[in-house]
Amino acid sequence: MTALQETQQETGQETQQAASGLRPTWVSDARIASWLRWLPAADDAATLTATAPYDARPTVPVPCCTPEDVAGAVTAARAAQPAWADLSVAARAEVVLRFHDLLVERQDEVMDLIQWEMGKARFHAWQEVLQVANIARHYAKQAASYLADHKVRGAVPGLTRVREVRVPRGVVGIISPWNYPFYLGVGDAIPALLAGNAVLGKADPQTPLTLLWARALMAEAGLPEHVWSIVAGPGAEIGEALVDHVDYVAFTGSTATGRIVAQRAAGRLIGASLELGGKNPLIVRADADLEVAARGTALAAFANTGQMCIHIERVIAHTDVYDDFREALLAATSSQKVAQTFDFGADVGSLASQAQLDKVGAHVADAVAKGATVLAGGRALPEIGPYVYAPTVLEDVNEEMDLCLGETFGPVIALYRATDDEDALRIANQGTAGLSASVFSKDLKGADALARRIRAGSVNINDGAAVAAGSVEAGMGGMGDSGLGRRHGGEGIRKFTESQTIAASLIGPVGPPPGQALEKFVAMGNKQLALLRKLRVR
Ligand code: NAD
Repeated sequence: MTALQETQQETGQETQQAASGLRPTWVSDARIASWLRWLPAADDAATLTATAPYDARPTVPVPCCTPEDVAGAVTAARAAQPAWADLSVAARAEVVLRFHDLLVERQDEVMDLIQWEMGKARFHAWQEVLQVANIARHYAKQAASYLADHKVRGAVPGLTRVREVRVPRGVVGIISPWNYPFYLGVGDAIPALLAGNAVLGKADPQTPLTLLWARALMAEAGLPEHVWSIVAGPGAEIGEALVDHVDYVAFTGSTATGRIVAQRAAGRLIGASLELGGKNPLIVRADADLEVAARGTALAAFANTGQMCIHIERVIAHTDVYDDFREALLAATSSQKVAQTFDFGADVGSLASQAQLDKVGAHVADAVAKGATVLAGGRALPEIGPYVYAPTVLEDVNEEMDLCLGETFGPVIALYRATDDEDALRIANQGTAGLSASVFSKDLKGADALARRIRAGSVNINDGAAVAAGSVEAGMGGMGDSGLGRRHGGEGIRKFTESQTIAASLIGPVGPPPGQALEKFVAMGNKQLALLRKLRVR
């Protein structure tokens, strides 16, 4: 029986949701202690306490790791990694599949923790569970083929045998933000582990318990002790210490922090993937089904209370359908149920913190002061919760306003009118971000052609964001200031490996045979070049 199961049996507590925004009742001190034991921090370490968004009360003090703790965790991970890498991919996949099954069984626990720590609606917490479960199954099944040796033609065709093989990086660092504490903390760890690495994850100070819960569950699934460790503490100090010690870093967060991480990784000549911010556009073409487009826009704009890197903040409608679409969008916006509940009774939950509320409020206030019109929302809803903000639609937004091209990261959309597809494309491609985009149209071929001209790592057709992000076999990431590299699919696991070429000669050393004059060897080589060209070999 695991520590977690013992604790459960001791307390006799099943998962239950608190009726109010207070701490979920099953989250006993003993359970919290069973998660905190995964932190490599000293007993007398300083602590950080986050604020629970539903009631603005402190969650629990979580010990802060020091840079020395990070270095120690990397040393332990380095020692544990070779034995893990020696297992077959299939053996590693068994652990991941057991984790999958435990997760599906105990999903209520992690949904409660996610909601308690960052305030999103339960449906969006469930989407984190869904995404991680899909990633676990996908990579457990496909990792072996993604990582398989690749046979290539050698220097002397027929007389050489050449293969590219995949070697684990060693210790992979994963720095993740608070907005998807489970999906972004675990979804990259799974392919990194399957590729034979040890992983060191850095929890965001707002949401450490969610990630520690995941680590404890992975232990129940059979993952050895130091193969995946979690550190917690202030972002700059602990995040930078992590970059200073690991062999590769997968960072998800803001573009500003991404630049710091990239520069630090460059100084050590380690690789990095950077999943950064967006300012994602959605185009409604003249032939779109306007009800579908309005529903899709509301879903993608207000999902996760707008605190989603790929959510929609700019909506560009063709002038012929602008007025009708605006009406449909306002109806879809006003039908959003905003609430704080630990059940599925809310479409939109709380923002995560006072800082988020301040930022969203400041963006809207700046826009209104400079001439934007509020069509819906535009205000906080303290009667529902301390950090709740109404789903908001603005019109008459221009480039002088901070929210025009700056990421708001809240439930706020700016609506633009385009004269035609070219104009819509021009507006969509404004700014330096390039994460995700969307096109609504009944003409799939026309939408595809438009999609290829949008500068974004993913383009969704007739959906706002989920159809691309949910396709875990396809890469997901940003162009421009939205990042480097991709998660999901082949690139999402191969990035956690180095490519190694193993080339064997069947004729001894490749070069002139003993005693042959170099001129003769060169002449033969030139004849061979001409022949290969004629035969169109590579
Ligand atoms: P952030 O950059 O402030 O923090 C992200 C993580 O980095 C946290 O764990 C934080 O503690 C850590 N950190 C902070 N300073 C650091 C430093 N100097 N060195 C190393 N690590 C450091 O991001 P945030 O504002 O908390 O998160 C929201 C942002 O993340 C938004 O811009 C959002 O668009 C982006 N995001 C991107 C994706 C994606 O896949 N592209 C997904 C989710 C969120």
